[in-house]
Amino acid sequence: MAVAKPSSQVLLNPSGSVSFIDVPQIREIKKPFYSDLNLGEEIAMIKGSCCCGTVQFELTEVPSMMGTCHCSRCRKVGASTLVFVKSESFQITQGRDQISIYKAESPYKYDRCFCSVCGSALGEVLSEEDSFPLAANCIDGDIGLENSFHEFIAEKPNWLKIGDMAKQFDQHPTKA
Ligand SMILES: [Zn+2]
Ligand SMILES: [Zn+2]
Repeated sequence: MAVAKPSSQVLLNPSGSVSFIDVPQIREIKKPFYSDLNLGEEIAMIKGSCCCGTVQFELTEVPSMMGTCHCSRCRKVGASTLVFVKSESFQITQGRDQISIYKAESPYKYDRCFCSVCGSALGEVLSEEDSFPLAANCIDGDIGLENSFHEFIAEKPNWLKIGDMAKQFDQHPTKA
């Protein structure tokens, strides 16, 4: 199983503020968003669930990457940090009939799924595409991935300060 090494150390200052030392290398996004994913290695089963446990799923591969979208839509549905999974490695094991879909309205392409009991954002778990974004918040435990980019920075509210070194894009990531 892949485990992320901490790439920077967090230093808690006496004043209560936090410093990052040993700054990690910025990982470049070399491929266009949502396409031609470099898929993860085989691993022990990863499990995930909504807040109330009605919806449960399993993954047989580590997702290919993790990114955070700061657009108002992702922010409001509560799924800003997403990982990208291959459909064949993903299986809903419980609660499929309790999943509601918020249909995308033009110009948005991506439908969003929720647990209809507790409202947890799940990403696009009912997608019929070969790969789709899954809300990172519903994965149980650590999957050894770190956030690798921020997109739609132009829509980021001022109250949110980015504290990692991941690459930032005004809109969708572009080829490096
Ligand atoms: Zn739920
Ligand atoms: Zn978004």
